[in-house]
Formats: sequence, structure tokens, C-alpha cells
Amino acid sequence: MDNTRKSTKRLATAKELQQIVAGFYLEGHEAKRSGKPVGWMPPMNGLIEIFYAMDLQPAFPENWSPVCAAFGLIDRNYQAADSMGFSPDLCGYLRNCVGYINGMMGEEGVPLGGLPEPDMIFMPGAGCVPTMKNFQYIARRFPGAKVFKADLPQVPIEDIQRYHIDYALSEINRIVEFLTRVTGRKLDHGRLAEVVRLSDQACALWDEITSFRRCLPTPISAAEVGLMFVMVTRQGTQLAVDYLTRVRDEVKQRAEKGIGIIAKEKVRLFWDNIPLWYNLGLFNYFEKYGGVVVAETYSAAWSIRLDTANPLEALAMKSLQSYPMVSCVSMKRRKEMVLRACRDYHIDGVILHSNKSCLPITLGQMDIKRALQEELGVPSVVIEADHMDPANFSMAQFEARADAFIEVLLQRKGYRQ
Ligand code: SF4
Repeated sequence: MDNTRKSTKRLATAKELQQIVAGFYLEGHEAKRSGKPVGWMPPMNGLIEIFYAMDLQPAFPENWSPVCAAFGLIDRNYQAADSMGFSPDLCGYLRNCVGYINGMMGEEGVPLGGLPEPDMIFMPGAGCVPTMKNFQYIARRFPGAKVFKADLPQVPIEDIQRYHIDYALSEINRIVEFLTRVTGRKLDHGRLAEVVRLSDQACALWDEITSFRRCLPTPISAAEVGLMFVMVTRQGTQLAVDYLTRVRDEVKQRAEKGIGIIAKEKVRLFWDNIPLWYNLGLFNYFEKYGGVVVAETYSAAWSIRLDTANPLEALAMKSLQSYPMVSCVSMKRRKEMVLRACRDYHIDGVILHSNKSCLPITLGQMDIKRALQEELGVPSVVIEADHMDPANFSMAQFEARADAFIEVLLQRKGYRQ
């Protein structure tokens, strides 16, 4: 049985996304050709805003992995990583990235031209171990690139103190100094304030779009998770604000007219953990039963509101919150996030993706399962899979569990099968 499937999108604005993705990679290659410095970095840490403010080119190797999944490039990248001795048990993002940079990178015919070679590499001093290791391997692969090693305290968001912010601010200033030294460009603080304002505006729009998931029926589902690309790669740009405004308008209009994802929405589902990037079609699987995956944990991680009156400090705060599902979160908080989403979005059942190659986000799912049942009376089902490796996912097993689960949910809501 085929383990890979594309999702069916219902938003007209989602069709623009292909162009936005292609445009981002094209821009990266043009930057490289024209001598604009390219920096590889992890997402969501305040760097993107500084880059756009200094007219530098950001690139995101982690985000390249879902793109590889969409273009069917994972097998070759994994083969390259395997041949170097990387275990198949490691994070799929790391395996894909290591395999790509030591394999097909630079070849003719790679979709979107692949990633432009880095002039600078930003090694995170935060997040999970695979993400830190990934950047170590990247730095080894590109010895000519200038490397910035970041250092950040990793504390649950609710425990952030003034001294954490001061330290993060000193790191942001260190990054600005590094960029000035390496590129010869100066940071214009007026331009930075504008970029931070645009970044915050994109987050406000994202939150607004997400809030429409409360509607019955929902006008937007998890099948549109690809919209996240804009939040990862374009925060701080007018392009992101304009595009998200169009998405917001479309979703709002659908909500006002009561247009749902399917003709009759019977059961509302929530997906915990990262989607299966090679099989986003799973988000449409339940529709034949009247089930809609209304929301998922991952997209909630891409909105961090910023204090636009204090741009540098806002970026320092953002860097402290940059791994809201991994190292900047307590188990208590993560459980609360899922429970709150279930309340807000009127969820009937939860799919807990037990993700073989992402243990940080899988950790604590049994506590979440218990809390869902005890505190909300919401049933859940565990699906064993992997966000990047189709070999760790069985469609037949998924169907067996998903069908039995949806049957229970339909019965609970009084629907006869
Ligand atoms: S959080 Fe999970 S998916 Fe992301 S880099 Fe770490 S192990 Fe990989």
C-alpha cells in the first residue's frame, strides 16, 4: 500500500503557495549569484528579522526537509546519510539534511535548485540535540563559511526571568556585531523596527486565521498546514503580511457563509505532533466519514507576538521562546496547550502521532492522553509513524486504527454508521 499522498486543499489562496515557495528558493539562488551573503539558520529565533533588516539572505535547512518530502527526494538523501553511518533512528530532519548536503546538493535538476550554499552558519545553542548536531555537520561540510555559535538559556516560557532576557539580548547584540564584521553591512535600527512590526503583524494574522477553527463547521483544516512555510521563511516581510491578509479574508468569508471543509462535518479531530510530510493526505482521510482534522499542534508553534516598541528586546524574547514544543516548554504547559486547543476548537477526538524520529515532541503523550480522557472526556488514539520516513509508517495499520477510532467517535455523537 502506498504510504505517500498529497493533501486536498480547499482554500483558493493555498494555490499561491507554490509560487511563494519557488520564489523563496529562487531569491536564495539570485542572492548567491549577486554576492548577497547567505546564512543558514534554524527558524524562529529572531535571526530572520535581523537578516531581512540588513538585506541578507536567510536559508533554513530544517524547512528544506518537508520540501524534499513533497518532491520525493527523501530516499536518496537517506541513502547518502545511511552510507555515512547515520542511524535510521535519528531525527528525519537531520538524516535528510546530512544526506542532502553530502549527496545531491549542487547537482543539476534538484527541484527549486535546492539550497544556496551558505556564506554563514548559525549554530543554535538551544533546542533538541539533533538540531544542534545537524548544524555541527553543516559547519563541517562548508569549512569556508563563517560560523556563529549561539548560546541560549533553555527555560520553560513561563519561567523566563529578567536575567534570561538580558542574556538573550547580549546574544542578539553579538549576532549583529558578527554580521557587521563578516558582511560589512550595518544594521539600520529604523529598518529593523519596520521588519519587527511586519513580523508581529504576520503573527497577528496567523492567530486570527487560526481562530476561525473555532467555527462550526471549520472553514480551514490541518490540510492547509503548508501555509506555515510563510511563517518560517518570510516573517518580517510585506509579502507575508499581504499573503496572510488574503488568506485571512478568504477564511473569514468562508466562516461568515458557513462553508466548511466538507458538506457535513460530523466529527472534529486534533492532530498532535509533526505532520507526516510525505503523506499530508492523511489530513483528508477522515472526510469520507464526516471527520475533519480541524487543527494540529505544529502550526501553533509559528506565532510569537513581538513588542514592536522595543525591537531588539522583542527578538531576544523571541529567541527564548523559539522551541515552544521542545526545550522551551514544560510537560505541564504542553499538556495545557493540547487541552486548550481541544476546548477552543470543540474537538471530539485526538490523534496522537507517536513520532519515531522526534522523541522530544513525542515525550509526554501518555500524560496528554490521560488528561484528555480525565479532564475533558475526549478519546484519543495513538498512531505510530514518523514525520519524515515513510518506512516507519504503515498505511494499513493506520487505516485499521483510524477506522475503529472514528467509529467510536461517530457512535458517541449519535451517528449511525
Ligand atoms: S524537535 Fe524533533 S523534528 Fe525537530 S529537530 Fe528535534 S528531533 Fe528533529
